[in-house]
Amino acid sequence: MTVYLVGAGPGDPGLLTLRGAEVLAGADVVVYDRLSVTSLLDLAPPEAERVSVGKQPDGPRTSQDDINALLVARGRTGQQVVRLKGGDPFVFARGGEEAAALAAAGVVFEIVPGITSAVAVPAYAGIPVTMRYSSTSFTVVTGHEDPAKGEGSLNWEAVAALGGTVVVLMGAARCRTICDRLIGAGMAPGTPAAAVQWGTRPHQRTLRATLATLADSELQPPATIVIGEVAAADLAWFENRPLFGRRIVVTRAQPQAAAMAAHLRRRGAEAIELPAIAFEPPEDVERLVRAAAEAGRYDWAVFTSPTGVHRFFQHLRDTRSLGSVRVAAIGPATSAALAEYNLVADLVPQRYVAEALLEALCDEARPRGPGRVLIPRAEAARDVLPDGLAAAGWDVDVIPAYRTVAPAPDPAAAALLADTEAIAFTSSSTVTNFVDAYGVGAVPAIVASIGPVTTATARDRGLDVTLEASEHTVEGLIAALEDFFPR
Ligand code: SAH
Repeated sequence: MTVYLVGAGPGDPGLLTLRGAEVLAGADVVVYDRLSVTSLLDLAPPEAERVSVGKQPDGPRTSQDDINALLVARGRTGQQVVRLKGGDPFVFARGGEEAAALAAAGVVFEIVPGITSAVAVPAYAGIPVTMRYSSTSFTVVTGHEDPAKGEGSLNWEAVAALGGTVVVLMGAARCRTICDRLIGAGMAPGTPAAAVQWGTRPHQRTLRATLATLADSELQPPATIVIGEVAAADLAWFENRPLFGRRIVVTRAQPQAAAMAAHLRRRGAEAIELPAIAFEPPEDVERLVRAAAEAGRYDWAVFTSPTGVHRFFQHLRDTRSLGSVRVAAIGPATSAALAEYNLVADLVPQRYVAEALLEALCDEARPRGPGRVLIPRAEAARDVLPDGLAAAGWDVDVIPAYRTVAPAPDPAAAALLADTEAIAFTSSSTVTNFVDAYGVGAVPAIVASIGPVTTATARDRGLDVTLEASEHTVEGLIAALEDFFPR
């Protein structure tokens, strides 16, 4: 089989190529190092072996010879081996040596180019590496060789004389000597310069200075240094996103947690998925199956969560058994779930809470009077709606469509929570389960709640609720977080 040398890009997992994702999905072994994006490892099958080859600044590191030997040995066993490398595998990444070792051993290999940090990191800082007329070339150099010692093969005079953009990788530690060397080689000390640390990642930081002053600030690797007229360009976009730099815990069940996290990331946040709830089939599945088959006998079917919709339709054998039942949804997410089954909700209340749904149903039914209603929903849920409908004379069947359970606490949670500033609760059960699992003390300082019911539960459990969404949806909650954080 083949050994793939895959460029993982500079950090943002979205910058992996399609080919990279494809070969990861079929990997038997993934060999990765420190700057690899760990979430990309999730693209490999769960049973694939994951081998870290270190390169921690202070921890153990595997020598390049050992890495080459490992790739050759694994390649020979016939496994699909993915060697994941930061940026592009052939740009200052020793991919050339790895490929040479594979070629010499007769092991079939493929190079999957990646997006190099030399171009993408400046781009995420709003710096184009070329500009028509003013910057007509860019030179990518390593800052690893000590320019002061006169060793190495880099001709700094030539680099300075080119007059285009200079991009320095691996230059954080030697920033001062590099800048001095370029000034010595004839570059103007006032030339714009920028350093981008942890580019394309949620904690990206951009320092802007001149060639003379860049080294006055302390630089932590990994950093990409850009020198030249373009470094004065400030087309910032990534760092301007409303939730940039905010670390927010998402407590919803999967797969909703992943969707909410993706939404938060698009708004610039670092989202941490720590589901405090999971869904399981109800005790009595048969009852749900019967209710679905007989849904046409009801006047109304009322859905109070997307999960209720999905579980109900999972057990609906024939759509025609719905007959002419009218359908109500508590809010837009639930009606969107209905739409997945080509059903348009007849009724969605103005406010997305049970009280408002109750009122809207009673209003809507007024001309004909109360009827028969089917409510497929979570096994344990508030009784506002069924009790209210029954009191108004409705014939109510509450059918458990799923059970909510608390997942086992995540052992890595304590460390993650320690430096997280905000947490988002999307239901009362996420609050209860989270506090039961990790304790009130572990809850981040900023508590965001989706609505009044969740807020009340949180206060009950001793939490200070910092903000509550005015529209009780995930989108509303994210908007409330954006309003809360100062830009
Ligand atoms: N093959 C990689 C480069 C490896 S050398 C590529 O094509 O991008 C490692 C250097 O890349 C780091 O010292 C730093 O200069 C740069 N680098 C990698 N990831 C970076 C990031 N997220 N932000 C800033 N610089 C980064």
